[in-house]
Parts: sequence; structure tokens; C-alpha cells
Amino acid sequence: MRSSILRDRLGAAESLGTVLSMATILIVEDEPDLAEVLRYNLEQAGHRTLVASSGGRGLEMLAEESVDLVLLDLMLPDVPGTEVCRSIRRSSQFGKVPVIMLTARVEEIDRVVGFEVGADDYVTKPFSVRELVLRIDAVLRRASSLDDDAEQEGAVISFGELRIDQAAHRVWVAGEEVELSALEFRLLVTLLQRKNRVQSRSRLLDDVWGIQADVTTRTVDTHVKRLREKIGVARDYIETVRGVGYRFVSAPPEPGSVPAD
Ligand code: CA
Repeated sequence: MRSSILRDRLGAAESLGTVLSMATILIVEDEPDLAEVLRYNLEQAGHRTLVASSGGRGLEMLAEESVDLVLLDLMLPDVPGTEVCRSIRRSSQFGKVPVIMLTARVEEIDRVVGFEVGADDYVTKPFSVRELVLRIDAVLRRASSLDDDAEQEGAVISFGELRIDQAAHRVWVAGEEVELSALEFRLLVTLLQRKNRVQSRSRLLDDVWGIQADVTTRTVDTHVKRLREKIGVARDYIETVRGVGYRFVSAPPEPGSVPAD
């Protein structure tokens, strides 16, 4: 319910051409000055804020309140932000809430936004508040469009040159039907449904193959390669994220644009 309310707000804000507003953002940050700067600026940007000064308190507040997004500091006094993020993702109650990690450690970023921790995005300290507000809006929009995709499950999905009939398990590329195995079909739909989010090889193994990673993660690479060959001109929609996995692009490239490779 919460997400549909948020979407209505997003829709209203977009139609007015204004900055979207009124998300509830939980700030988990132990440095009081920084927490205050964040609180002030996010409220100026039209959001409602909650502040927790430890990871444990943050998780308690998530259980108590309806939160649309979490800003999570990596270095916290009780548990590391990465551990808090994992706990959020494991929760059946609030496991889907978007998380933006605040970190001073650039070398942690791959891990943070990858499967291992599961944050949606990150901002490195020191950061500009304006940039952070833009990131927050982008993550909220993405979360809202993922909800839309989930609601349309079973329907026909169109994305650039791709058309997928989920119920019939049929796929067309540029109007031509292509034959995919059941596994390739699941792989394609899973990547598309999580577009713009990096999917690690082990996450794909769990979710597409449905097995705990006994099979080597190289299996994923082999199948992605085969899938790309089969979908021809749509192959560039699936990007390789080095050292992590794959990501479906957020939007199809402009017609006539030159492929990246
Ligand atoms: Ca800190």
C-alpha cells in the first residue's frame, strides 16, 4: 500500500514537473552534525525524515515505521552499515526498502552495491547534498517502477526491440520470434525485471537456477553468452559489470545509436 501511495505522489509530482516529495527517509548516521545536515536538507527537499544514531536503533525504527528509503552510514558504533544492510535485505517485513550507503571507503563500493551487501546505491563522503538529493529521487523512482513491473507480471513486456509474453513464454526481437530455453527465458525476464540493478552471478544462480551455488558461477557466464547470441540486436541491453555480474540497462538505447562494443 505504501508504495502505491508513494507512486501516486511521484505521479503527481512528475505531472507538475516538480521535484518529487514526501518520502519518509530513515537516516542511520552516528555523527550528530552530519545527521543534522542530512535531516535539514532532506526536509528542505520535501521529505519526512527519521534519524537513528546506531544500526540497532535503525532496524528498530524500520520495524516500527513506514520507511520509503534508508540512508545508511557504513561506519556505525555498534554494527557496520554493511551488516545492517544485510539484515534489512533478510527481513520479510522491510526487505525491499531501498538503501543508499554513505561511505568514505571507495574500495568498499563494489561489495556494497553488489549482491554481498545489497545496497541500491552509494554516495562517497564527502558528498554534495544536492547530489545526494538527486540520487535519492532516482532510487525512489526506480523502486516505484519496479513495483509497477511486479504488478504487470504475466503481461506482455516491451523494452526497446524486445517483446516478452510472460504467460506464453515467447520472446520476439525486432518483431522476429526467438526460441529460448526455459532457463534462458527465466534469465532474461529476471534481468529485465531488475533492470538498472547489478545482479551478481551467485544471485542469478539462486534465483534463476534455483540452486545454492554448487554449480560454478561460470555457468551463468555461459548462459548469458548464449542468451546474448540468441537475442541479437537486443544483446547490448545486458551489460557485463566486471567482477560482479550483469545488469540490464535502465532504458533501451536510442534507435541508430552505436553499440558500446
Ligand atoms: Ca559514522
